Amino acid sequence: MRLLITGGAGFIGSHLCDRFLRDGQRVVAMDNFITGSPDNIAHLAGNRQFEFIYHDVSNFIHVPGPVDAVLHFASPASPIDYLKYPIQTLKVGALGTHNALGLARAKGAGFLLASTSEVYGDPLVHPQSEAYAGNVDPVGPRGVYDEAKRFAEALVMAYHREHKMDTRIVRIFNTYGPRMRLDDGRVVPNFIGQAVRGESLTIYGDGTQTRCFQYIDDLVEGVVRLLHSDLVDPVNIGTTREICIRDFAEVVNRVAGNAAGTIYAEGLRIDGDPQTRKPDTTRARQTLGWQPQVALDAGLMRTIAYFRSLVLPGEAPG
Ligand code: NAD
Ligand code: UDP
Repeated sequence: MRLLITGGAGFIGSHLCDRFLRDGQRVVAMDNFITGSPDNIAHLAGNRQFEFIYHDVSNFIHVPGPVDAVLHFASPASPIDYLKYPIQTLKVGALGTHNALGLARAKGAGFLLASTSEVYGDPLVHPQSEAYAGNVDPVGPRGVYDEAKRFAEALVMAYHREHKMDTRIVRIFNTYGPRMRLDDGRVVPNFIGQAVRGESLTIYGDGTQTRCFQYIDDLVEGVVRLLHSDLVDPVNIGTTREICIRDFAEVVNRVAGNAAGTIYAEGLRIDGDPQTRKPDTTRARQTLGWQPQVALDAGLMRTIAYFRSLVLPGEAPG
């Protein structure tokens, strides 16, 4: 198989490149580095099964040669990033998805969309199953991301129904691991960066908001299984271990050995920040036989080792 991964130089995209190459596939990564980095794929230079194309997928996509599957992961993903790039975020969700679908159709390829738990917005149903239609404010600050992904899902289903294309939609819940950008503003790099520097962790709001954090390897396994399945309906991939941000900060401090504690930074909480988030993963478990394998402490240890090497160069990842 020859796969196109848009957003291939990002956090998740680069791990997908690694996995598919390891599985013996040929991979074409496409990225414009708006939030990703060449560093994430530098280790693949010289690999004859790997190609990189620098391109903004919101413009017409041209890929010479056969393509068997398109995995569309290009999009700013951190709230700080999509607030900084609101129009690019809407464009890559709408125009980028349209172009990526058009390429897949022209090549007779399968298509997989990276969607998000944010399609559920600030949910009124808990936990969130794929049947829940969500609670999204289109004009709130998060609307640029949430609505782009909701539009992208609608477009994928339209191509599936109208053009009989073989499509998949993965709704990804909070995922963390090595290669997240230290300054991407998400809670994991923020907390780990602070912990490694021996600073207090900044809790936004009162810290009672909840999330479920999955390690990157578990997500990648879910994406691979979904791609090879025949499941057209959206699938949640995430852990069901729900933790409030206050407790999460304590876990990070404990695992990192940071004694500086926490501080509350009410003003930094973005409007519309969901109060709860937890996937119902029945579909993934029953149809893909998938469930997360990496415990929070273990995933954090690996991620802390990576960030330590960035913050304190000279200290090799353990
Ligand atoms: P990321 O910012 O590390 O990766 C996104 C990549 O897409 C970057 O390399 C960026 O440069 C690239 N990109 C953005 N716009 C582009 C464009 N117009 N043309 C070409 N490349 C472009 O973020 P991530 O966490 O790896 O997220 C990857 C995907 O997974 C996104 O679609 C995101 O919405 C989705 N997702 C991630 C999470 C998570 O917890 N990490 C949760 C839900 C959904
Ligand atoms: N958060 C926090 N401190 C930080 C960064 C984030 O308390 O330094 C909170 C944020 O308000 C949100 C949660 O952590 O409630 C997760 O935020 P993130 O940006 O990782 O992504 P989200 O899940 O909101 O998309």
